[in-house]
Amino acid sequence: MAESADVQASKGSRKAEGRPRKSSSASRTKEKPDDRVAGIRITHPDRMLFGERGIRKIDLARYYAAAAPRLLEHAGGHPVSLIRCPQGDIAHCFFQKHASEGFPREIAEIPIEEASGKTEDYMVVNSAAGLAAAVQMGTIEFHIWGSAARRLETPNRMIFDLDPDTSVGFSKVRDAALELRDMLAAAGLKSLAMVTGGKGVHVVVPLVPRAQWPDVKAFAKALADKLADEYPDRYVATMSKAKREGRIFIDWLRNERGATAVAPYSVRARSNAPVAAPVTWEELQRLESANGFFIDDMAARLNAPDPWQDAKKWRQSLTRKVLETVAR
Ligand code: ATP
Ligand code: MN
Repeated sequence: MAESADVQASKGSRKAEGRPRKSSSASRTKEKPDDRVAGIRITHPDRMLFGERGIRKIDLARYYAAAAPRLLEHAGGHPVSLIRCPQGDIAHCFFQKHASEGFPREIAEIPIEEASGKTEDYMVVNSAAGLAAAVQMGTIEFHIWGSAARRLETPNRMIFDLDPDTSVGFSKVRDAALELRDMLAAAGLKSLAMVTGGKGVHVVVPLVPRAQWPDVKAFAKALADKLADEYPDRYVATMSKAKREGRIFIDWLRNERGATAVAPYSVRARSNAPVAAPVTWEELQRLESANGFFIDDMAARLNAPDPWQDAKKWRQSLTRKVLETVAR
C-alpha cells in the first residue's frame, strides 16, 4: 500500500481555520433521502465494495453508523489513519496518515509534531458523521494511535499484536494470547482480546494515561522478550522474518508514539469484509479463526452486551510495582 495521499497533500502551513473546507453534505445533484447516513450524503451508494457479500458503499456507511458508539469509545479523540480504497476495489488502497486539502469538516484536524521535528495535520473522528464522511471518501479501515489527541504523550492503551507465521494455526495464536493475558495478570494488569479480522489477535491493556511512550514501549518489549525467552520455539519478539518461521511474532512495536493499530470494530479491506472484533476471553477460546466476524454478523454483536464492558471500570497504570515484576 502506498502512502500517496500524504505525499499529494500540499506542504507548508495548512491551518484548519485558514483554508476552505468542503461540507460533504452539500450537494447540487439529485439525491435520495436514503443516501444520507448520519447526515452525510453518500455518493455512488450502490458501488459494490465487497461483491462476494453484496456489500455496497452505502452498506459500509450504515455499518459504521451503527457501530459508531462502540467504535468511538476507543477511537474517538485519537489521531486516526485511514485505509482508503476510493476506486471501490480492495486491491487499490492507500494508507493515509495526514489530513489533506478539501477534507470534510466532520473530520477534525490536529497539528502534531512528528519525530523528525516536522508538524503535520492529523485526523480525529469524534462522531458517526465523521465515520460516514470518511466512508464517503472511500475509507474502509480506521487505524488509531494508542493515545488521545488531548494527551498525546501518555498512551491510554498498550497493545500486543500477535502475528503468526503462515504455518501457525489459530489455536496456537489463541494459546499465545492467553499466555500473554496471564503474564500481564501476574504483573497486575488486566487485558482484553480482539480478533483482527486478519490472521492474529491483539491483546489490549487499557491504561490510565500516566506513563509516557518510552516507558510503555520498554515495558511492552520486556514482556514480549520474557515470553519469547521462555518459549523460544513458539514465540519471537524481534522483527526478523527469518526467525519467525513456525512461530508467533509478539509485536510490541505498536507501543510507539505515532504507531497505529486497527481500531476495534473497523472493517478490514480484505475479502468478505471481516471486522476487527472485540471478544471476551471465554469467547476467544471457542473461536476457530481471527477473521470469523463479518459486517453481516455485527448487528447481533452490537445489540448484545459489550464484550469489553468490564474494562470501563478499570483504572490501571504502569506503577513501580508493575514495572518491577518484569524487571525481576
Ligand atoms: P493481522 O492480524 O492480519 O496481522 P493487523 O491489523 O494486526 O492484522 P496489518 O493490517 O498488517 O495487521 O497492519 C499492521 C500494522 O501496521 C497496523 O497496526 C497498521 O496500523 C499499520 N499499517 C498498515 N498499513 C500501513 C502503512 N501503509 N503504513 C504504515 N502503517 C501501516
Ligand atoms: Mn497483526
